[in-house]
Amino acid sequence: MNRKLFFLFCIFFNHLVFANNAIMGVSGGIIIAPLNEINTENAQILSKEYKGSEYVIFGVPYSLVENIVNIENNKIVISPKNYGESRINITDSSKVSLSAENQARATKEALLIKGNIGTYSDILLSDLDFKLPVDGIISSKFGKKRYINDMPRSPHMALDIAAPEGTSIFSPSAGKVILVGDFFYGGKYALLDHGMGLLTSYSHMSRVNVKEGMVIKKGKEIGLVGSSGRVTGPHLHWTVYLNKERVNPELFLNNNIVKTISNL
Ligand SMILES: [Zn+2]
Repeated sequence: MNRKLFFLFCIFFNHLVFANNAIMGVSGGIIIAPLNEINTENAQILSKEYKGSEYVIFGVPYSLVENIVNIENNKIVISPKNYGESRINITDSSKVSLSAENQARATKEALLIKGNIGTYSDILLSDLDFKLPVDGIISSKFGKKRYINDMPRSPHMALDIAAPEGTSIFSPSAGKVILVGDFFYGGKYALLDHGMGLLTSYSHMSRVNVKEGMVIKKGKEIGLVGSSGRVTGPHLHWTVYLNKERVNPELFLNNNIVKTISNL
């Protein structure tokens, strides 16, 4: 692989990262780089044209330690980031210590979701400028280390938006509905494919108003806020996936992507 010194802008810190022979990224963040500085051979990556130039956007895996990973034949050096921690208590013990039956169900559902997250569609439907899907309060940010009843659990890899039961959830961007379900953890759930490895999911809804196979516009009602699945109160658990990695959804809000590209 022929590489050279190049500049990358990592929007997580909104500063320039200089890298020699490797692409630098921040845990759970995204990397935006000019397409001609990336190895794109056989790569299923997200690319976006802006003012006549092509750019690539990678999702960076979440890591608590410095790590080097290979994403679509590109070497990415991950810097850890401290996203803080959250502690919650769940009184329904059947949803903390799972019965064999629930464990089997949760495992099967996780495999179904994982299979769909691997979707790569050639056409980008999204404008990459997401709107917050619910008019509510951000109640838990992305990346927090979690403790449930004081027991360490996997980090929170999504953005929680709290709103009253029944509040509308709107598609933050155009996409195709590729999975709808009612899952043990996620409750009433929908997964959208925005194209080129960019996907978003919506959990804990009280009602889902879309069906698999529907192509929806930005602003279409996906469903209603609820407390289905494993939750402590009504909220939307909103996940953004890029090249199969869960990344911080806030990076796609407020036209951050285009602002970053225009500063490269
Ligand atoms: Zn959540």
